Amino acid sequence: MSNTGVVGYLEQPESTELQEYELPTPKDGDLLTKIVRANVCGSELHIWRGEHPLIRDGALGHEALCRVVETGGEVRDNAGQELEEGDLVVPAYFATCNECARCGRGQHQYCENAYKYWSRAPEEWPHFHGTFASHYYIHDDQYVYKVPEDVDETAAAAANCALSQVLNGLDAIEVTQGDTVVVQGAGGLGLNATAVATERGAETIVIDGVANRLDRAEEFGADHTVNLTEFETVEAREERVLELTDGLGADAAVEVTGVPAAIDEGFQLLGNGGRYLVMGNIIPGKEATIDPGKAVRKSIEMTTMMRYAPWYLQEALEFLSEHGDDYPFGELVDAEYPLADLQDALRDSANRTVTRAALIPE
Ligand SMILES: [Zn+2]
Ligand SMILES: [Zn+2]
Repeated sequence: MSNTGVVGYLEQPESTELQEYELPTPKDGDLLTKIVRANVCGSELHIWRGEHPLIRDGALGHEALCRVVETGGEVRDNAGQELEEGDLVVPAYFATCNECARCGRGQHQYCENAYKYWSRAPEEWPHFHGTFASHYYIHDDQYVYKVPEDVDETAAAAANCALSQVLNGLDAIEVTQGDTVVVQGAGGLGLNATAVATERGAETIVIDGVANRLDRAEEFGADHTVNLTEFETVEAREERVLELTDGLGADAAVEVTGVPAAIDEGFQLLGNGGRYLVMGNIIPGKEATIDPGKAVRKSIEMTTMMRYAPWYLQEALEFLSEHGDDYPFGELVDAEYPLADLQDALRDSANRTVTRAALIPE
C-alpha cells in the first residue's frame, strides 16, 4: 500500500490542483478514511468560483462516503457502534466542539468552531481536510456514523448534506401528516424535501421553471407541480396554490431556490399561520423587495437554516435505509469523474452541463 494520498486544493478561484501528502496516522479517537465517492455540491461551486464570503482557497469537498483505513485506538461512531478497518462511514462535514458557548447551550448546529477543519491548507497536518481527495481525516469532534448495509452507496455519499439539512429543517417547521407543503425549487434540497415531506404524510406542491426537474420531483413524491413557464406571474402561481389548497394557501413552505424574490412569493403562497423555512438563499449581498406586512397579516412563522444538528445525519441514514428504494436517490448523480479530472468535474458542474458530479478516486 502506498503511504501517500492526494488532496484537491483550490489555489485561486476556478483553479484547482491535486497535491500529494504522506498519509497521517490518526490520533486517539480520530479516523483515517479512504474516499469511496465524493459529490460536487452547489456550495462547493460557490467556493470554487470565489463567491464564498469567507473562503478563498484551501482543500475542497464536503460530501462523501468513506471507508475506514485506520482508527486512532478504539473508535465508536456517534450511535455507539465500534468502527473497524473496512467499515463504510459518513461524517458530518463540520465539527461540534462541545466547548463553545453555543455547544454549551445545546445549540450544536451553531457551534462557533464548526469550520475549524474546513478548507484548511493541505500542507497543514493532517493534510486531508476535504473530500475531493483520495483520503479524508475525520476528527473525534466530527459526528460520524457507520452506513447501514442496505443503503445505496451513491445515496449515502450525499446523506451528510442535503438530506440531513432537510430532515432538521422540516422538523423546525413541524411538517406533519395532513399538511400541504410548497417546495420552491426542485434542485437537490428541493427533491430531498419533497421525499421527506411525502414520508411525513404531507401533500406537496413543487414549483420550478424546468420541466425535467419537475418530472424528477414527481419521482420524489410531488403530488402537484407548478411550472414557472406556464404560471408566469406570482399571482398566477398564488391562484394555482389556492386552487390546490381549497382556497386556504399552504400550511408550510420551503424555499430552496437561492433566488431572493422567492421569499416574498412564499409569503403569498402560504395561508394564515403558515410556517416558512428559508434555506436556499445562502449567499449574502443579494437583495429583493420584501413586503413584511404580507407575512404579519398571516402570522407567518419564518425560520432559516444552515447546516443541521449533527445527529440528523443518523436520521438521514435511517431514512435512506427505510425509504431509499422508493425514490431514485441514486440517479441524482448524473456524471462520474476520476479524481484526476477534478477540474473538469467542477467546470462541467459550474457550466451546468452536469447536474450532480461524483468524484471517484482510483
Ligand atoms: Zn453539500
Ligand atoms: Zn462548539
